Amino acid sequence: MYARVDGAILDELKAIVGAANVLWSSEALEPYAHDETPGLWSMPEVVVRANSASEVSRVLRLANERRIPVTPRSGGTGLSGGAVPTLGGIVLSLERMDRILEIDRENLTVTAEPGVITGNLHRAVEQEGLFYPPDPASLDSCRLGGNIAENAGGPRAVKYGVTKDYVCGLEAVLPSGEIVRMGGKLVKNVTGYSLIQLLIGSEGTLAVITQITLRLLPLPPYRVDLLAQFPEFEPAIRAVSDIIARRIVPTTIEFMERDSVLASERLLGKQLPGRDAGACLLIQLDGRREEDAYADMELVGDACLENGALDVLVARDRPTRDRLWEGRRVIIDALKHESPVSHMEDVVVPRAVIPRLVGGVHELAAEQGVRIVCFGHAGDGNVHVIALKDDLPDARWQELVPALQAGIYKLALSLGGTLTGEHGIGATRRAYLPLALDPVLIDLQRRLKAVFDPNGILNPGKVFP
Ligand SMILES: Cc1cc2nc3c(=O)[nH]c(=O)nc-3n(C[C@H](O)[C@H](O)[C@H](O)COP(=O)(O)OP(=O)(O)OC[C@H]3O[C@@H](n4cnc5c(N)ncnc54)[C@H](O)[C@@H]3O)c2cc1C
Repeated sequence: MYARVDGAILDELKAIVGAANVLWSSEALEPYAHDETPGLWSMPEVVVRANSASEVSRVLRLANERRIPVTPRSGGTGLSGGAVPTLGGIVLSLERMDRILEIDRENLTVTAEPGVITGNLHRAVEQEGLFYPPDPASLDSCRLGGNIAENAGGPRAVKYGVTKDYVCGLEAVLPSGEIVRMGGKLVKNVTGYSLIQLLIGSEGTLAVITQITLRLLPLPPYRVDLLAQFPEFEPAIRAVSDIIARRIVPTTIEFMERDSVLASERLLGKQLPGRDAGACLLIQLDGRREEDAYADMELVGDACLENGALDVLVARDRPTRDRLWEGRRVIIDALKHESPVSHMEDVVVPRAVIPRLVGGVHELAAEQGVRIVCFGHAGDGNVHVIALKDDLPDARWQELVPALQAGIYKLALSLGGTLTGEHGIGATRRAYLPLALDPVLIDLQRRLKAVFDPNGILNPGKVFP
């Protein structure tokens, strides 16, 4: 069992990080009681805002000795409740560790602290003509530590992969308080097990990340965006397969159903491109040479039209591009605006079976009498499914959510997919892990967790069923 945070522990925490960085009034704690996961809320006993690896180390050593739960937190934008302190204890915030330490133009790396806002890192490296591809849609509020811990993806994953493909060095603090450094500015490294890859996606349950070295690419100078409008969903996904079969890998292929475009319109109070189509694809291409990007644009446009697109809009400049993307960027907010209570899933399936997944989800919605909207990353099979409570009675909603979760997961698994592509297991999906993973694998992961964290103080109540 865990100990509570008492006055003596508060004093010790103040001695480590300074009294101003220990928050314990209920007003100050409230913002740390939730992340962006709808409906999940749990108060910490105290929030500690660390400013260095050595402070993180001293906090963890103390918590480990006294058996106090510690929940690491960076931007608090998670969508599976990972940063929510479901068992109370200490929230260890990394938000003050927000320095970009070095952009190395010769080795094409950037070294930064976990509290750096992802969008700020993008802008800093882009000023140097460099490029950090992972681009979660939350990039102006999420932070690198959370991106590493969740292995964040984003629209550009189709061509450039996800966070794990860019991390070459980490500094982390173990629950014992030991500070360890792994990797560095290295393109290759097979010295021992890849513990870096183990920590990526470990959702704050194994160690606290305190410094990150990321690989960069040259910034592609040319970019063109297309919005292809289809009468319905199936031909849109056929077009995606056709584009890839033509050996073009766009940076991004996002899809939106009509309901999501209309919800964005209602939030923004204006008409959006794509409003009359059954389904839209938003496709982005980039290249080192203008003529290459435009040649790919022609081929992609042809593939869409040959697969039944009604129309393909092209954006070559910033204002037009912003207009094409406006609806996609606000979908989550728009649906929240329509129904403040909702539930979001993040299943991933092989790209070609997305229509079967989306069709099955809509059948489930009709059976259960609930409104569901799907959108997401058509290029990598990652579908976001949002169920809206609207005016369903509370009791009906409470019984509906677990039934929907199980139904959606079973459907995704039956199509060769899995529970989550980028939002993680966290608190909200842990009960369903056995649907996806063999008991032997769950047990192996539990044993790994025990090696890192024998007292179970780091982010308890997450990931494991
Ligand atoms: C509008 C919206 C759009 C989104 N779009 C995307 C998207 O396109 N792609 C995507 O992948 N996600 C997306 N997300 C989800 C979320 O933004 C990502 O999971 C992001 O990586 C979380 O980062 P964060 O800094 O907010 O982490 P937090 O919410 O603070 O934490 C997330 C997890 O990481 C752990 N953690 C945080 N910092 C550390 C650290 N330093 N060391 C160890 N563990 C740590 C926490 O304990 C928790 O388990 C979106 C969220 C919203 C609200």
